[in-house]
Amino acid sequence: MSLSHGRDLFMTPGPSVVPDRVLNAMHRAAPNIYEGDLVDMTDGILGNLRKVAHTAGDPTIYISNGHGVWEAALNNVLQPGDKVLCLAAGVFGHGWAAVARQMGMTVKLMDFGVSGGLDVDLVADALRVDPTINAVLVTHTDTSSSVRNDIAALRKAIDSTGHHALLMVDCIASLASEPFEMDAWGVDVMVAGCQKGIMTPPGVAFTFHNAKAAEVSRSIPKTSPYWDWEPRVNPERFYYRFNGTPPTHHLFGLSEALTMLVDEEGIENVWARHAKQAQAVWAAVAIWAQAGAIRANVPDHAHRSTAVTTVISDGHNMEPLHQWCQDTAGLTLGVGISFGPYTSDQAFRIGHMGHMNPAMLLGALTTIETGLRALQIPIGEGGIAAAGAVLSS
Ligand SMILES: *Cc1c(COP(=O)(O)O)cnc(C)c1O
Repeated sequence: MSLSHGRDLFMTPGPSVVPDRVLNAMHRAAPNIYEGDLVDMTDGILGNLRKVAHTAGDPTIYISNGHGVWEAALNNVLQPGDKVLCLAAGVFGHGWAAVARQMGMTVKLMDFGVSGGLDVDLVADALRVDPTINAVLVTHTDTSSSVRNDIAALRKAIDSTGHHALLMVDCIASLASEPFEMDAWGVDVMVAGCQKGIMTPPGVAFTFHNAKAAEVSRSIPKTSPYWDWEPRVNPERFYYRFNGTPPTHHLFGLSEALTMLVDEEGIENVWARHAKQAQAVWAAVAIWAQAGAIRANVPDHAHRSTAVTTVISDGHNMEPLHQWCQDTAGLTLGVGISFGPYTSDQAFRIGHMGHMNPAMLLGALTTIETGLRALQIPIGEGGIAAAGAVLSS
């Protein structure tokens, strides 16, 4: 029997819950796309995107998802035949590398497994022996494994070699959920989407680039008018900012979401809220893990994302848990994607990013715990109390 008859709860690591305020901001008549509110509002959006990423560099908004801006970023600073060093800690690191390969770049892949961070000394060694590498590609948070890589440490390692390679970072899962300081950390190009930490329905995505990346970009021939960021950053007319019709209603939603995150809450407070809620999730999972059937994928807290937690089962199929949560209880969890040595039915992922409060979080954790018991998967006693203790401390 399904008991699910209320508002469904969504705890996937993207897309994430869209606030009613964002939905309401989108619910309006078609606006003028040449002048007026939309044009003024877009300047405000770009300013707030800079604040979210802690950068004075240039954000570009594309009608796209994350996969699109993977291509956009590569297209602007690299050419076929260029060499990229790709650092992987899960599916998405491999994914960006595959895009680069298909675009004709020579890919050197360093796979750091799926349960810990990068070894930046090995990266430095790889750069020292190859001065021809044009760019280093890395995911900040890999949403499959829930590993978060230390980008500041990576920059330091790159600088220690004196290497000229651009540092390009995928923040699609982490932006506006986890601390990220583009300029202070020396990131040259960053990509992100709107549908995870930025709480907006999927449909627009971003590149950010600094002066060094802009210079590289101007020095190479552009093969894609659509992805070229130059006319979008310095548009002759508003129309060129989007290389055509702007994503009108998305912009109203995005503007509202950024107002909530930047102008009202403050991005540092957003990060702190996510850190606290992540610790509550980890506390519950740690207690559940005491019975030996499930565990957090990333052992070391220092390497964990505070936006998503991947839980691994050793020997139990997690597919029925997804089904139970979804069908009986009205909770959608992140599907386990197969990554590293794990098949998709060996994992579930709890998205704890974006528009979320303790009531939602405790509701989700209690539902998961109830589902695990219903399916007779052994878990330790007291997970919810442990999560509550974190949230109330
Ligand atoms: C979600 C995600 C992507 C892919 O984004 P889409 O919008 O689904 O194309 C890429 N990288 C990371 C780290 C992600 O979390």
